[in-house]
Amino acid sequence: MSEKVRIGFYALTSCYGCQLQMAMMDEILHLLDKAEIECWFMVERDSDEDREVDIAFIEGSVSTQEEVELVKKIREKAKIVVAVGACATQGGVQSWGKDKELSELWKTVYGDAHVKFEPKMAEPVEKYIKVDYKLYGCPPEKKDFLYALGTFLVGSWPEDIDYPVCVECRLRGNPCILIEKGEPCLGPVTVAGCDARCPGFNVACIGCRGAVGYDVAWFDSLALEFKKKGLTKEEILERMKIFNAHNPKLEEMVNKIFEEGE
Ligand code: SF4
Ligand code: SF4
Ligand code: SF4
Repeated sequence: MSEKVRIGFYALTSCYGCQLQMAMMDEILHLLDKAEIECWFMVERDSDEDREVDIAFIEGSVSTQEEVELVKKIREKAKIVVAVGACATQGGVQSWGKDKELSELWKTVYGDAHVKFEPKMAEPVEKYIKVDYKLYGCPPEKKDFLYALGTFLVGSWPEDIDYPVCVECRLRGNPCILIEKGEPCLGPVTVAGCDARCPGFNVACIGCRGAVGYDVAWFDSLALEFKKKGLTKEEILERMKIFNAHNPKLEEMVNKIFEEGE
């Protein structure tokens, strides 16, 4: 067995933005005395998805039957599986239409085109296999990726971020878009780590880094605040589902607000 840590990068259905983000990290070159890249089609055409690896980084959402088989194979051959980016961790923005018929969505985008694969509704990787660690973002921050990889390489385990974007927003001293402009900012329920990028440009957060845990985020409180600002239940749900359509708690909590009244 190689003494180097064996790493694989795998792509499912996505815009490939996460792959590009990782491929542009010069720092990965400095790791080559410690790590062996076993699979990465974006940088090596002869990559082999069948090789065993210590760490598998998977980006993209599971959107075909072939990808279901692929993630199961990766799980069997990897010691640690990391889901990379909003597509792999939350199903991506392509899950926004998950309550619609796949055939209807397909027809809208592809018309009558025939394909060689068997399409499915987009799902996060965790729907099919156990995921050991998640790198949030669309795409993930370079620092998050290097922190996780570096931590794995020294035989340790990276910490999760369990506080919301609002914390970073306050630290930056941004004016609050929700309070001052009345816009439906999702920062209070979204995993921090982007240094409140969007509010920093005076744009409301749309939740690309996924929802913080139910025990630390209160979707119902935020939904109530949105309701007070005049948004309808449907508008609130549409907003919250842009990147979090697979969150099972979301609908339940927003429904609660509208059933209970104020
Ligand atoms: S998470 Fe965002 S950047 Fe990454 S593949 Fe999906 S859409 Fe592209
Ligand atoms: S702008 Fe958004 S992220 Fe920033 S403090 Fe207000 S609600 Fe939170
Ligand atoms: S502010 Fe929200 S939408 Fe913008 S990058 Fe951060 S998590 Fe994503």
